This record gives sequence, C-alpha cells and structure tokens, in this order.
Amino acid sequence: MHEFSFAYNIFKVAEATAIKNKATKITEVYLEIGELTLIVPELLKKSFEMATSGSMAEGAELIIEKTPGKIKCRECNKTSTVTLTEEAHLTGLQLFQCKHCQSKNTEIIEGKKANIKNIKIL
Ligand SMILES: [Zn+2]
Repeated sequence: MHEFSFAYNIFKVAEATAIKNKATKITEVYLEIGELTLIVPELLKKSFEMATSGSMAEGAELIIEKTPGKIKCRECNKTSTVTLTEEAHLTGLQLFQCKHCQSKNTEIIEGKKANIKNIKIL
C-alpha cells in the first residue's frame, strides 16, 4: 500500500468526522494497522504530516497501534499468530506456515486492515 494515498484517506475520513461534529481542529488521530498491511509507520506519519498541511488537522498527532496478523490453516483448521519476516517486507510475498501442523495451506484472516479507531477534536 502506498503510504501517501493511505495517509490522505485517513485525513479525509477524520476531517469528515470532525466537520460532522462541528469541530474546527483535529489534534489526534488513533489508527489501528494490521501487521500484514506492509505499511511503514514512520513513512505513514510523514505522509500524514504532508497530507494535513494547511488543513484543520495540521499538527495533529498520528498514533499508530499495530494489530497482529492471524492465519487459519486449511488442513487442521487451527489459527496461528504470524508476523512479517524481513523478506516479506522486501518482496511483499506473504506465505505463512501453520504453527500446529506446519502446513503452508493457510489463509490470512486478520491483519490486512487499517482502521481509524478514534480522533480528538476541538
Ligand atoms: Zn495446520
């Protein structure tokens, strides 16, 4: 995912919420990001700064919380918690092994999403 367009989307959602609540300024945005989204928090924070420059969210703090990735095994039906390896970060390739039966026949069930959890407005 490209951090800048993602940061811009976060800003637009936060802005719409702030306007709906008759706020004039956004001071904090709490974000939950799945471990498997490949988003780099530092880049996202920089992009957010750029995306909000000159807006009601200028100077707002972006607080990022990572949520773990989870896979479900198609062989034994159990779930495992997974993290991204260095290699996956570089190649974008995400192949996960079941921690119970070592099968690679798995599907990702959590960790691919990013959500705004809360915003602080004035
Ligand atoms: Zn398994």
